Amino acid sequence: MLNHMAMTPDTPPPGFPARNAAPDPVPAPPSRAYLDIMAAQSRRLLETSSYVPAEREDAPEELYDRLERAVEDQREELVDILHDLHRHPEEAFREVHAADRLLAHLEARGLVPQRPAFGLETAVHAVVESPGFDPGRHRTVAVLSEYDALPGIGHGCGHNVIAAAGLGAFTALAGLLREGAGGLEGRAVYYGTPAEEGEAGKELMARAGAFAEADAAIMLHPYFADVADQAWLGRRVMRAVFSGVAAHASSHPFMGRNALDAAVLAYQGVGLLRQQTPPTDRLHAILPEGGERPSIITESATLKMYVRSRDPETLKALSARVEEVMGGAALMAGVGVEVRWDESPATLPVRTNGPLTDRWVLAQRRRGRDPLPRGTLSEALAASTDFGNLSFRLPGIHPLIGIAGEDVALHTREFAAAAGSPAAESAAVDGAYGLAATALDFLHDDALAEAVRTDFEERGGAVDVEHYFD
Ligand SMILES: [Zn+2]
Ligand SMILES: [Zn+2]
Repeated sequence: MLNHMAMTPDTPPPGFPARNAAPDPVPAPPSRAYLDIMAAQSRRLLETSSYVPAEREDAPEELYDRLERAVEDQREELVDILHDLHRHPEEAFREVHAADRLLAHLEARGLVPQRPAFGLETAVHAVVESPGFDPGRHRTVAVLSEYDALPGIGHGCGHNVIAAAGLGAFTALAGLLREGAGGLEGRAVYYGTPAEEGEAGKELMARAGAFAEADAAIMLHPYFADVADQAWLGRRVMRAVFSGVAAHASSHPFMGRNALDAAVLAYQGVGLLRQQTPPTDRLHAILPEGGERPSIITESATLKMYVRSRDPETLKALSARVEEVMGGAALMAGVGVEVRWDESPATLPVRTNGPLTDRWVLAQRRRGRDPLPRGTLSEALAASTDFGNLSFRLPGIHPLIGIAGEDVALHTREFAAAAGSPAAESAAVDGAYGLAATALDFLHDDALAEAVRTDFEERGGAVDVEHYFD
């Protein structure tokens, strides 16, 4: 009877295929219900909301035209770079091929880029100024490119698109700045920023002095939709190392103290803690070390976890709760625990600058794109980026540009395929123009620059990012 029950297919919930209750080597596919409901919500919101940028004094039309032409002139090369990086994915800190390719493009346009830069072998730095540039009177805008890939799935985050767009934007703007076209004054700095995935290359560069010369920093990221401003969570990396006492697990178990028990209790404790956290907090852990063999009481076990939250303050508070859970688990198992935070620097949430976002949206509309306003997509669709650390140092934007279908999430093979598609090529070119035009506006329009600064101060101003969690 029992056996018969076990073989009877369950009645599946909506979205699930029928499955036997018996052990099955194939995992159950997740239900799409949550995704479908979020998509329907976004569509309803879109019918009633659209982004309304504040009116500003535009730069002379001729300058936008020139930027557009300069980007179009590079189209073939930018597309070639996009595909070259896509074919040669390189993980964090090892992006030698990508960095050299960016360097060569800058040199071919008469610029003098540096690599290594700011202590990182694969970081790139280039500067261009208008004639008579005066740092006391004129502004500096930073344009960023990322280019690292993911283990196993290559450019599943589409950083090859970021690389091409940032590069195209900077070189287009450099042409105008060098000759002071239309009386344009200011400076543009290009930062090739390695090691975003799982690391915080931008934070390392900032600690080595990068970005200090800039008044604003801009970059884009590919996505499944054009979005003016999406939530990005702050993230810390925690490693808890539990230390027990080894013993023969059969003959002398009473002489042991089991570090794996503590790690498992900690893992479960984090699961229970989730009941009391808002949906914008994220806790996800692995157990990279849990013992050598079953006959030895585990002497050492490790739990590694990412702790994420929507605001720096809540990230700090959540970190304290997590640390208490680690201590409590150790106490229950009678083992020691050492909690190590931020082996690679913590990343803060992205604080998006409103007036700069307005200019990005207007520039994208010129290219036939219409980025969604914040709140159209669920805040639950949130990851993290080291750009957050810059956005708490200086005003910045990190808008999203669509290269894939609605169902295609970041960090998947499907997104990696999209990052080498014709849609990615268009996004790189449209994005290059959008960043260049936003940078032009920021350098050209004093009132805009003032509004950018005021917006930044109203959201809390500059934060001591390096020591925020000390
Ligand atoms: Zn990513
Ligand atoms: Zn990414």
